[in-house]
Amino acid sequence: MTDKAPEADKDSAAHYRFDTLKVRGAYDPAAHNYAFNVPIYQTTSYEMGSTERGERLFRQEELGFLYTRVGNPTIDVLERRVAALDGGAGAIALASGMAAVSHAILNLADSGDHIVASPYLYGGTFDLFKSILPRYGITVSLAPSLEPEAIQRLIQPNTKALFIESIANPKGYVADIRSLATLAHANDIVLIVDNTFATPYLIQPIKHGADIVVYSATKGLSGHGTVIAGLIVESGTFDYGNGKYPQFTDKGFTLRDRSDNYRSFLEVFPETPFTVRVRLALLNYLGAALGPFDAYLVLLGLETLSERIEKQQANVRRLIDYLQGNEFVSWVEYSSLPTSSNYELAQLYAPRGTGSIFSFGFAGTLEQQERFIDATRLFSYQVNVGDAKSLIVNNAKTTHSELTPAELDAAGLTTDVIRLSVGLEDSEDLIEDLDQAFAAVFGRRPGHVAQTGSNTDSKPVESPQPESEPEVSRV
Ligand SMILES: *Cc1c(COP(=O)(O)O)cnc(C)c1O
Repeated sequence: MTDKAPEADKDSAAHYRFDTLKVRGAYDPAAHNYAFNVPIYQTTSYEMGSTERGERLFRQEELGFLYTRVGNPTIDVLERRVAALDGGAGAIALASGMAAVSHAILNLADSGDHIVASPYLYGGTFDLFKSILPRYGITVSLAPSLEPEAIQRLIQPNTKALFIESIANPKGYVADIRSLATLAHANDIVLIVDNTFATPYLIQPIKHGADIVVYSATKGLSGHGTVIAGLIVESGTFDYGNGKYPQFTDKGFTLRDRSDNYRSFLEVFPETPFTVRVRLALLNYLGAALGPFDAYLVLLGLETLSERIEKQQANVRRLIDYLQGNEFVSWVEYSSLPTSSNYELAQLYAPRGTGSIFSFGFAGTLEQQERFIDATRLFSYQVNVGDAKSLIVNNAKTTHSELTPAELDAAGLTTDVIRLSVGLEDSEDLIEDLDQAFAAVFGRRPGHVAQTGSNTDSKPVESPQPESEPEVSRV
């Protein structure tokens, strides 16, 4: 919320391109004592000034700051900047990506409601859907695949949302956002897209029909492994007055006007009903507020988003060249590879590339796999992704350890999967690190037909796919 959206902001969102917006969007130094960088407003609350202004603030006649749990000027710049980068009407920042996921769902579904979700989900989201939401009366159906027909079959009269990830963890499945948006809208329900892995630099889901976009800003968006943060962005185009979402149309005392007429969220905030309701009805009372310093760290990271991703993707291509011919590697999965079953969707939705994360199959025993991970020196063994430093993890045993063997299978997550989140180091050092780790396990450097230095995209290499590869729909 802001009381001072300077006119220049509206112009900037309309006229400037992505890389300009990521460093300057939604910020006018003149409105902040000419501070050139976004100041950290480390304050709990704000002077109302006069009882007259206090009245206006509480009646929503003036959108100003009252208390940092529900709004803060540093956080406000982050929210409006990310909304601009995503082509959204509004955004709200929260204390974590999980807060963004849970608040987006809770803003749509009450006890007795139902949501449908992709089978390819972040481990924490999977656990929330499987173990936590049902205890509060919200049931979740996990689709067997992202095929529209499979999803349509699961939609019920009480279904309130379809939840997917644009590029899903850890195998990089790319969702056919347009087809799924069409399906959701034909059923009068909201499409929520977790765009964490893609970031708005690679995919802008709202442009493809998504209604709500959620982020863990902890990952590539901030990009340095320094902060836990989340965001929800709304398109501003979904009709919450379609009869399915009374929480937006019910008139309430809280939003009364000067004549004490009760009003609804949709009436008072027609352009951004979703994010305003998250703020006033959920964040206000559930309390997962981001801190101003953390918002500042995300803003700082955002400034180099495009440059980081381009360099990381270049490193990914070098590493894939190394791994593809490697005798100790059974498959490499990166959706931008022409050999990937996701290639067409990747080209359609993420023509610049599918990001800094990819996975490969370790051709050895589980014991050898663990020794391999322990032998890496540069790749850090961590569950995080999107850091400026390279990370390695065995997902089946860590990030997705709550999944049963059958659930792992459905998610295409075999136990040989090793996920790399590639950072900004020199690619030669990264390759050397993997090479010495293979040697530590197998007693010799791997034999391979090295293609180091080439661009994998222009040199398709045979990449055997695992048997359990689920089908994804094609455009
Ligand atoms: C990490 C992650 C989350 C959760 O974010 P936190 O900031 O760790 O709470 C949600 N979705 C995806 C895809 C993630 O990678």
